[in-house]
Formats: sequence, C-alpha cells, structure tokens
Amino acid sequence: MAIATVNPATGQTLRTFEPYSPAAVEQRLARAVQTFEQYRLTDFGRRTQLMHRAAELLDADQETIAKLMTTEMGKPITAARAEAAKCAKAMRWYADRAPALLADEHPSPEDVTDAGAARALVRYRPMGPVLAVMPWNFPLWQVVRFAAPALMAGNVGLLKHASNVPQTALYLEDLFRGAGFPDGCFQTLLIDSRAVADVLRDPRVVAATLTGSEGAGRSVAAVAGDEVKKTVLELGGSDPFVVLPSADVAAAARTAVTARVQNNGQSCIAAKRFIVHGAVYEEFRAAFVAGMRALRVGDPMREDTQVGPLATAQGREELGELVADALALGAAVECEVEVPQSAGEGWYYPPTVLSGITDRMRIHHEEAFGPVATLYRAEDLDHAVELANDTPFGLSSNVWTTDDAEQERFVRDIQAGGVFFNGMTASHPALPFGGVRRSGYGRELSGHGIREFCNITTVWIA
Ligand code: NDP
Repeated sequence: MAIATVNPATGQTLRTFEPYSPAAVEQRLARAVQTFEQYRLTDFGRRTQLMHRAAELLDADQETIAKLMTTEMGKPITAARAEAAKCAKAMRWYADRAPALLADEHPSPEDVTDAGAARALVRYRPMGPVLAVMPWNFPLWQVVRFAAPALMAGNVGLLKHASNVPQTALYLEDLFRGAGFPDGCFQTLLIDSRAVADVLRDPRVVAATLTGSEGAGRSVAAVAGDEVKKTVLELGGSDPFVVLPSADVAAAARTAVTARVQNNGQSCIAAKRFIVHGAVYEEFRAAFVAGMRALRVGDPMREDTQVGPLATAQGREELGELVADALALGAAVECEVEVPQSAGEGWYYPPTVLSGITDRMRIHHEEAFGPVATLYRAEDLDHAVELANDTPFGLSSNVWTTDDAEQERFVRDIQAGGVFFNGMTASHPALPFGGVRRSGYGRELSGHGIREFCNITTVWIA
C-alpha cells in the first residue's frame, strides 16, 4: 500500500510520502537506543511531567487532529474529537498511576526466608526500544494506549503506523517531542509493511506490539518468535451481543446499533453477531432494525453524521464479498440502509442487518469490518452460550441479562478476553484489554498493559 493520505469520503489522494530509506531507518534506530540509555534513568516525576504536557498539547490540538483523522480514515468528526479526548485522558491516567503500577513488590518475609534470602524484591525495569505496528481504525488511540504506558515505564517507542494514516503518525512523533520527551523517545517510521521484519530483527529492537489483522499479527509474531522477542497481539474480533429475556430489550437494541456502527463499523470490539433469545427475538429484531434504518450516513465532516465511509476501497470490497457470500447461501436481508446521494463518491457501505446465518457462510466465521450485523435466534441459554463461542475469535463480548446466575454462566464459559453486561464493550485505561484465540494474546491498558513491556527483575539479597 502506498504511504498516502487518501480521503475516503471522496477517494481523492491528498498527499503522498516516500518511504524512509534504509539509512533513514538506521538513523532512527540508532537514536532510539541512544535515547533509551539516558531516558531509562529518568525518574517517574520527570516522566509524569512530560506525559501531562503531552496531554495538554493534545487537548489544545483536538480540533486539528480530529479533522486530520477524519480526512485520513473517514470516522465521523464527533467521534474523532472524542478519540482525541480519550487519548489525553489515558495519558493523564498513566502519568499519575505509573509510579504505583510499577512500584517495587516485596514478597512476604517468611516466603523469602524460605527462598534463602534475607530480603527480596521485584522491580519493573524498562526493556528498550519497542516496535508498535498499528492500524488506521483508531489512529490516535491505538498508538497512545501503547505509547503512554511504554514511555511511563521508561521504554522508547518506534511506530510503524498504517500506510493510510501517515500524517496522524507524524503528528504523534511531533506531539511527544513537543511535550519535551527527548528526541528518540517516540519516533515514527514511514515504512512499507514489508520492511517491518528487518526492523524487528534488528537487535536494538527488543519487543513488538501489533494491532491489526490476523495475517499481520501472524507475520510479526513469526519473526519475533524466531528472534525470541516478546509480542503483544491485538487482532480482530467478532464479538457476540447476547440478549436474554430479563434484559431491557429497548435499551439493548439502542446500544446494539451504536455497538455495531461505531467507527463506521470498523472496530475490533464492535459487536458483530447479535444472538437473541427466542422469547425476545422479535421485539429486539424490530427495534434494532428500526435503529439501523434511522442512522444518518454521509460526509464524516458533518456534525450530525453517524456513519461515514469505510477507510479503504479494499475494505469495502471485502465486506461486500462477505455479504454476497452470505446472500448466495440463503441469508435474509432485514435491512439495507440506503446511502444518500449527497454522501458523494466515497467508500460508503450501507448499514445492513442479515439473518438466517449458517455456519457454511464466511460471515459466520470471519470479521465483518464495516456496518453489517448478523442476527441469530437462540433457543435457550445453552444455545446462546454455544453460538457466542462459535467463532475463531475471542476479543470481548456483550451480554444483556439481569439474572445473576446467567451472568455468572457467561463469566465462567465465554471464550473471550472480556464480558460486558447490559452495556457495550469499550476500552478504558483502568481495565485490561485484549483477547484469546485468534484475537491475540497479551493485554493492553491497566497495570497488566504497562507491565507487558517491563523486565520483571527478581532481586534476591542474602
Ligand atoms: P492490517 O493488519 O493489514 O494493518 C495493520 C497494520 O499492520 C498496518 O500498520 C500494516 O501496514 C501492518 N501490516 C500489514 N501486514 C503486515 C505484515 N505482513 N507484516 C508487518 N506489518 C504488517 O489491516 P488492514 O488495514 O489491511 O485491515 C484488514 C483487516 O484487519 C480488517 O478488515 C480487520 O478485519 C482487521 N483489522 C483489525 C483491526 C483491529 O483493531 N483489531 C484494525 C485494523 C484491521 P500497512 O498499512 O503498511 O499495510
């Protein structure tokens, strides 16, 4: 993919970038490791100060960066502003909490005497330059949720961002530098995905985190495995949204619409499969379809737009193929919202609800990365659990029930990294985020996220 800003609302190429030469990449790797040797010695007080400054700058830039994100990948402008605000909040959260999250741990005196030590402690030390391979769907948030904890832990970051969000990628480098982080603490590498393996094999790069498709995750993890370097992978998802009879069905249907079409349907934690108990199926179906029909699709720069274009022409084509496959195998269209002519020539996809899904259809097993929902009727609780788990993915899940025993059943049996009851999945700095199965491994955010890229050092003193 060319490194370029192409407006998804028009298809127009606005700016192209030459990939960095091997010499330019080398210069940045050298700078990363030199900076790390100094930066790792800074104390939390200094890092906290810098991270707060970055949050202030981001707040001040909110309108500019929101417009840039919308221009590069098509998310509604209101969502882009919210994303920028969320990033500043996460920066402040880590700025304030990192010292406690990474404080030395002191095992109990009896246990260490048993281990032959007079005392012992565990220290979370930084590891070095970490490579972050990031996607375009939340071009600021995906990066910040890596960068804020990584920098607070004393690591330095190298960003290989998606090729269609180069200006957002460069903005992030400027942001951290502008906040006063030393040059080399956070650098963007404008490189093709084929150049990632060489960077990862470089001995100066100690670990990698990737958010994106399963294929990209597999490639990066294979190289990292070969080099014995740690990875965190946050891949796709096909989260279930289960509605059981005790639920507030109207509220569930309203939330279901948002959960499906947030970010124009291109979110790994978007609810994608709607699994509804037979007793409330019809009520939910009618309300959900009505909600989808009422969506305002159009120019993402408009304040009242709820669904903009997909980020890439290829994404639209792939989603169309998934839907065509389902229809050819007998799926029924519950609704297909018309895209207004005023939306223009962009890569719009009509918000769609399909029912009659079977396991012969690709959409049953693959991630629908756009505003297409699949509706399933569950006969009973067991069937709902079975359908929820009938996917290769396991990122998060949403379950609507007020029954304690039913909630406990999902906590026990859902094969996912999270379960959200009577609400929709969202990421929050205080809560770990990540999946199981084909959705990846490792966790971002919370104390778990910041410790992923730390050398957990055992200190034993006789
Ligand atoms: P990709 O996984 O291709 O892109 C994500 C990042 O990985 C980009 O920076 C990309 O660079 C890079 N990349 C891609 N292939 C490789 C590779 N072999 N080695 C190293 N880096 C690589 O996502 P797409 O944009 O192509 O989207 C395809 C699908 O991925 C979506 O339909 C969706 O299912 C899933 N996806 C999931 C996301 C999530 O949040 N979990 C986010 C985005 C996509 P470059 O842009 O230069 O190719």
